[in-house]
Amino acid sequence: MSETRDVLRVAVLGAGGLGMAATRMLAGKREMTHVAIADSRGLAVDMDGLDADAVGEAQTATGTVGSTRASGQLSGDAIGDLLGHGADIDGVFVALPNLPNDFVPSVVERFAQRGYQGVMVDALKRTSAAELVVKLDPLLSHVGITYVVGAGATPGLLTAAAAVAAQSFAEISSVDINFGVGIANWEAYRATIREDIAHMPGYDVDAAQRMTDDDVAALLDETGGILELRNMEHADDIILELAGVVDRKRVTVGGIVDTRNPKKPVSTTVTVTGTTFEGRTSAHTFTLGDETSMAANVCGPALGYMKAAHWLHTRDVFGVLSSADIMPRFVR
Ligand code: NAD
Repeated sequence: MSETRDVLRVAVLGAGGLGMAATRMLAGKREMTHVAIADSRGLAVDMDGLDADAVGEAQTATGTVGSTRASGQLSGDAIGDLLGHGADIDGVFVALPNLPNDFVPSVVERFAQRGYQGVMVDALKRTSAAELVVKLDPLLSHVGITYVVGAGATPGLLTAAAAVAAQSFAEISSVDINFGVGIANWEAYRATIREDIAHMPGYDVDAAQRMTDDDVAALLDETGGILELRNMEHADDIILELAGVVDRKRVTVGGIVDTRNPKKPVSTTVTVTGTTFEGRTSAHTFTLGDETSMAANVCGPALGYMKAAHWLHTRDVFGVLSSADIMPRFVR
């Protein structure tokens, strides 16, 4: 059995909307210490625990965590430099943009090739990206990484809720996810918004990646700041299929994002419809509280899955698991 630690040493890749929210969340946890964070221009590392306020101030003032007082360092390859501390890191939350679509899978492969032996969780959204990570299962099993794919909100919290709700039924006819997201300004979540635009009619991942910030702002001006998304290519489908819950064709994901108002435009729900063993058709609906932010609903589950994955890692369970395969564990 691998070594267990009472307090997990956690690294965050990406210091944007989600990465910085994870930094703030980790500051309130006793069972995890935030030891490293990397963005496109630098990193901050302190094995005794980063000062979340100092990291936040540096990121706000200079646009990179690399300028954090005492622990920061500018770098052209922050992920590579962070990997140099891999032996001291128990868990990694990947909060990077997935543009192009194979970017996060390529980072995961890099961790494996450098011999990282710990836990990794991501907040990937696209089915095709999750499939690329699933293909890394033999490599990650071989190296000794325990990985949870789709550990955010959708996929993540809502997919897990669907897998639990499905247990009342003998057969599932549909899983329907409808999310509402409200953020005060799109610049706080550039990758999230670009990746959402990639789901709109007439756009794809490459087109969204090519858009300048001005292009995105112009599109949002046209739509009044609202993105309405239907039939998204969201990995909830493959995750529920791989977990044996339902065929991916029966899973639909859509939502409304307001980029100019932190109030959710609609409540976020997941509805599982099925037939019981007695032949009755019914539906379970799980609704998230409107006051919970996207950051709370992504970073909370991501850290919960990291704790669960670490528990499995100590029992020598390695490879790629999904948010519908295991329960997140509550992080105190
Ligand atoms: P963001 O654009 O706000 O921040 C991205 C961060 O990654 C920045 O700090 C940037 O510097 C850093 N980065 C970019 N390239 C890098 C590189 N090569 N090396 C190191 N750092 C690099 O992103 P965000 O809006 O916080 O979103 C992060 C991811 O989370 C996106 O892929 C988004 O789709 C996903 N997301 C998932 C869910 C979910 O429920 N599953 C919800 C929201 C967002």
